[in-house]
Order: sequence, then C-alpha cells, then structure tokens
Amino acid sequence: MAERYVRLVRSFTFEAAHRLPMVPADHKCGRLHGHSFRVELVCEGQVDPQTGWLVDFAEIKRIFKPWLQQLDHRYLNDIEGLENPTAENLAHWIWVRLKPELPSLVQVNIAESCTSRCEYGGPRET
Ligand SMILES: [Zn+2]
Repeated sequence: MAERYVRLVRSFTFEAAHRLPMVPADHKCGRLHGHSFRVELVCEGQVDPQTGWLVDFAEIKRIFKPWLQQLDHRYLNDIEGLENPTAENLAHWIWVRLKPELPSLVQVNIAESCTSRCEYGGPRET
C-alpha cells in the first residue's frame, strides 16, 4: 500500500468585535473594532485505505461548530480565555479546545484581514 500522507484544510468565517487591552494607549487596536475572521483548521495524516479519506470534512465542522457559535457575532473580550483576543491567543484558544477531539489537527490559522494572519501549530520547544 503506497503511503498517502495528506493535509486537509477546512475553512470557516465569523464576525466579531474586539479590542486589545495590552497595546499602548494610542494604538488603533486598543479601540473597539471588528473583523471578518477567517479560521483554517489543518489536519494531517495517512489516508485510511478503507474510507479513502483522512477525516470527514463534515466531522471537522461538527467538532468546531459549538466553539464557532461561541465566537460568531460576539465581543471576544467577554469570552473566558480571550480577555486579550489577539489572533495568536485566539488560535491557541481554538487549538486547546479542538485537539483532544481532533487528534489529526496540526495547525490553526486565524486571519483578521486579507493581509494579516497567525498560524499556530501547537506547543513546541523554543
Ligand atoms: Zn483587531
């Protein structure tokens, strides 16, 4: 059986408001504003020879759905663990909630705009 190692990406979008409390007083991100956030959940692994897939895209959606509902059209600063809702902290917040249920997850990408995004691949040695 030939090795078939794949990378799947399932994308989601949500709208939310936030402000960043740790930035200098004159920084624009300290003011209340919103983004159309884009989330990419990246899974990696061997294709199951029986099913022909790594993981069902619908399964990724099912696992993320309750967390997406907590984020969509919210003020992110009000959510426990997101008091400082940077893209970096949001990627980590999603990672720790999904990884136990989605072991093939290898990366969470959070884009705040077309030009700016954070890619988080889980804990690693620095
Ligand atoms: Zn922002």
